[in-house]
Amino acid sequence: MYSKIALSIGGSDSGGGAGIQADLRTFMALKVHGCSAITCITAQNSIEVTCVQPVEKNTLLNQLDTLFADFGIDALKTGMLLNESIINDTASKLNTYKITKIIDPVMVTRTGSKLLEDSAINAYKKLLLPIADLVTPNIYEANLLSGLEIRSKEDIENSARKIIGLGAKAVLIKGGGLKDMKGKDFFLDLNGRKEWLFNNFINTKNTHGSGCTLSAAICGYKALGFDLFDSIQKAKLFVEKSLDNSYKIGSGPGPLGHH
Ligand code: PLP
Repeated sequence: MYSKIALSIGGSDSGGGAGIQADLRTFMALKVHGCSAITCITAQNSIEVTCVQPVEKNTLLNQLDTLFADFGIDALKTGMLLNESIINDTASKLNTYKITKIIDPVMVTRTGSKLLEDSAINAYKKLLLPIADLVTPNIYEANLLSGLEIRSKEDIENSARKIIGLGAKAVLIKGGGLKDMKGKDFFLDLNGRKEWLFNNFINTKNTHGSGCTLSAAICGYKALGFDLFDSIQKAKLFVEKSLDNSYKIGSGPGPLGHH
């Protein structure tokens, strides 16, 4: 039934709202077969992350080797990579894959828990941006990757230029973290294509996993054969609809819902 395959490399969210679980649900909604390589296991609910356990190096590498030994994976995304050693291991494998790589530089949860050690930011810049077909930072992540403090629309554009300068083929900076920039994202690629993308702002508190869902949807649409820019536009619409269908399951922000 499904002829295309997408892979998510990232962390497990025991609450099922973000991380690997959000990615697999997104792939399924797009009718793409989803595979996963789990980098770490988090214990979390809608309020907090109480524990983070990285998987053993060989367990991560074996997941990747085993998948690529058999499946013709069409596109992949990375999510939570936690530390320098996981970034090193992931990058060493990604270097050998000739498929589209979407890098979602996950650093912190909406509820404020760290999902990346500070010391790992340089590894992102050195090892993952140069092999990224697209990197999808929010304002906070773009700030740390570009070294520019972002307070305005212009700062976003400058930050995107810096990120392209670090070797990424394309970048999508999600403006939502800035007042007045809700639903406004900036796209820039290596060829100088530059676009502000807009979508309707959905006013809901149930936004847990929306960053993961966006990068997974871009990856899923790429796996289906759409070009990168079309995949981004379609993915933004997908997230908008999924936010419209989001729901509450605990006392904090609930997850996105798909049709
Ligand atoms: N947990 C994991 C494993 C994630 O990968 C992410 C986000 O990328 C989150 C939690 C945070 O999701 P949110 O910021 O939407 O709460």
